[in-house]
Amino acid sequence: MKVYCKKCKMELTGELTPLPGEGMLSDIDKKSCIPVGYYYASKGEVYTDSNGQILVNLGDLVNVKNHTDPSRLNGCCGLDGTDGLNKTCGNGHEVGTEHSDCWMPWAMAFEPTKVFLK
Ligand SMILES: [Zn+2]
Repeated sequence: MKVYCKKCKMELTGELTPLPGEGMLSDIDKKSCIPVGYYYASKGEVYTDSNGQILVNLGDLVNVKNHTDPSRLNGCCGLDGTDGLNKTCGNGHEVGTEHSDCWMPWAMAFEPTKVFLK
């Protein structure tokens, strides 16, 4: 399975398999929330308001870039993701929120309405 932009069908990740169990999620700050090579449909774990979002390791992202609106890119050491979607596909379509600041576990959270898995 890969994640694709719903608008332009651009690939946004490498090949992923479903996370075998939510016990593999980590909530330790500055560590990846989810191992490389997996995706997880969040039921609200780890990140506030993440219910339904698709979590992947930042290392699995392809063709994903920072939002062009700098007000979305706040953070201390990375992106805190508290100001709305901060990542787009290569064509500029909003796809999700990167969480990569020093006070949180790290992951990309794709919006289920803006991407599809295939
Ligand atoms: Zn797109």
